[in-house]
Amino acid sequence: MSSSSSPPSRQNVVVLGATGSIGRSTLDVIRSSGGAFAPLALSAHARLADLLKAAIEYRPRFIVASDEKAAAAFDWSHLPKETTLLTGTAGLQEVASHTDADIVVSAIVGRAGLEGTFAAIQAGKRVALANKEALVVAGHLATELAQKTGAEILPVDSEHSAIFQALKAGRSEDVKRVILTASGGPFRKFTQKQLAEATVKQALAHPTWQMGPKITVDSATMMNKALELIEAKWLFDLTAEQIDVVVHPQSIVHSLVEFVDGSLVAQMSPPDMRMPIQLALTYPQRTECPAKQLDLATPFSLEFEPPDYERFPALKLGKEVAKRGGTCGAVLNAANEVAVQQFLEGKIRFTDIYRVGRHVLDEHPFEASPQLNRLLELDAWAREESNKWITCCLRQAKDQACSTT
Ligand code: NAD
Ligand code: MG
Repeated sequence: MSSSSSPPSRQNVVVLGATGSIGRSTLDVIRSSGGAFAPLALSAHARLADLLKAAIEYRPRFIVASDEKAAAAFDWSHLPKETTLLTGTAGLQEVASHTDADIVVSAIVGRAGLEGTFAAIQAGKRVALANKEALVVAGHLATELAQKTGAEILPVDSEHSAIFQALKAGRSEDVKRVILTASGGPFRKFTQKQLAEATVKQALAHPTWQMGPKITVDSATMMNKALELIEAKWLFDLTAEQIDVVVHPQSIVHSLVEFVDGSLVAQMSPPDMRMPIQLALTYPQRTECPAKQLDLATPFSLEFEPPDYERFPALKLGKEVAKRGGTCGAVLNAANEVAVQQFLEGKIRFTDIYRVGRHVLDEHPFEASPQLNRLLELDAWAREESNKWITCCLRQAKDQACSTT
């Protein structure tokens, strides 16, 4: 049952990636919690002035500047006396597993979020997981470890939060499938030709969500939905065949669960990440939320349409990787990170992002049950292979041989 009172005692929250879009929304939720939550530690990689500002406002016991070089070059003289500065990946691991940490919000972008997420799982924490890439890279290991340590992985991704909530409507054995909603991104109506010419500025103009640049480009290619398919498989112990995608441009229905009787249970709210972030902090309790609320007094429509797998082939990669598992997620994720970065730097075309992922998946030495070290080795291999492939294509830009691989 829902209640509007605050959780009983103050919970210490570690925010990994505190200066990003999810990190800032998390701090907003903490600020509005009336003291129910307090930041124990905040981390950032590059925008250290923002981290310092947050440290001055929130007075956490620790801050972590994960880029050691940037940390060494920064002027910390205004850091509050009660705040200790830690650096590097070791700093992330230290705060994520700290005895006094109750909840770790994993909001670093990309594979870089893996170490902090695993440290929190190893320490048996509640992990409010936004960093879907950790599950894409090593979902089987993360879920296995959580079972061993008793860590709770609660989804922050809005679709997975919706599924988490909708699953409460029935028994797990009666679930037929889950249906992830996708806004369709800024290129929902683009032709193949327009997609090939899409600019960085266009890709970063998401119609419904304000997010960091990497996930915004992932939404435009629909690789984000591909990564979410894999994330859903691990979070909810589903088969790839039990996960579908529907395009829903309004981003109000955040996902649906279909039970065997054909009943669809959905969760609805305006697109505002503070809602799923807060639920991951307060669950099983619900409290008043600073997020926008749905106004049913003003008429609005909800549309749904099937995704176009030809214009957005990244979706096929997601299905394939969810089915094959093993090393596939690690290499697809690494290839995508490299390709998105190269696209953002104006070096490759929008449609090349998929081609890099396809190439690396096809070329990689598949293994069905890799350990973490092997996944990290393959992550490094996939980055190198992606860069090689891109360099080859750039060099032979006018050569048909490269553009037809
Ligand atoms: P962002 O780019 O806005 O913020 C990223 C954060 O990670 C920053 O604090 C940055 O300092 C830190 N960071 C970047 N590189 C790092 C590195 N190498 N090592 C350590 N820290 C590093 O990203 P975001 O949009 O907040 O997304 C964060 C995560 O949440 C991603 O995994 C994304 O897929 C997921 N997510 C985001 C949203 C959203 O609405 N933004 C929604 C669902 C899921
Ligand atoms: Mg999402």
